[in-house]
Amino acid sequence: MLFHQFFDAETSTYTYVLGDEASLEAILIDPVKEGLDEYLSYLKNNNLKLKLSLDTHVHADHITASGFLREKTGCETGLHESSKAACASLKLKDGQQLRFGQQTVKVLHTPGHTPCHASFLIGDRVFTGDALLINGCGRTDFQSGSATQLWDSVQNQLFTLPPDTLVYPGHDYKKMRVSCIQQEKDLNPRFLRQTKDSFSELMANLKLADPKKIHEAVPANEACGLK
Ligand code: FE
Repeated sequence: MLFHQFFDAETSTYTYVLGDEASLEAILIDPVKEGLDEYLSYLKNNNLKLKLSLDTHVHADHITASGFLREKTGCETGLHESSKAACASLKLKDGQQLRFGQQTVKVLHTPGHTPCHASFLIGDRVFTGDALLINGCGRTDFQSGSATQLWDSVQNQLFTLPPDTLVYPGHDYKKMRVSCIQQEKDLNPRFLRQTKDSFSELMANLKLADPKKIHEAVPANEACGLK
């Protein structure tokens, strides 16, 4: 499988491209508007045809490139069915399997950071968006977030995956790139030795500033970036 991890320095966002070498079909996960040209040249240089652009959730900190990619390449765009983004051509359901070439993407509904948040399991890699970060997790204090839902998503959907499953997050602010399920179980301070109640208290007291682009990014992303 062809694989590349892109980094958007302004918002510390990771975008992923995965390509099936037999069919040359590819998918992108969480593309950022500013990265559009870079993704298109990667696809071209590797002779890949983009089949799908997936967003783990409606982002508040950056604008998705999904709508632009659909315009340029004719790919499908996918978001969880509970998102308000009427523009997505695929409304994803928990447990649904999508294919590109020989590869399968399993959709895991992992709400909490937002109600519409999904993670994507592809072979031994899981793309966790902002549900599970390396040594952290996404905030739950806006966009109808819920700490108790996030706790359940992590414990029941992500921490039940095989321990060696590689964890690729939606962001990292210290440039860490990859972890695995066992490492997060062993070391992630948001979950280690916490209970659902103590986690909820911790999440309620983070006192984070709103992302700079929230008022621009959320409505734009509800239109797949095309607004
Ligand atoms: Fe987010």
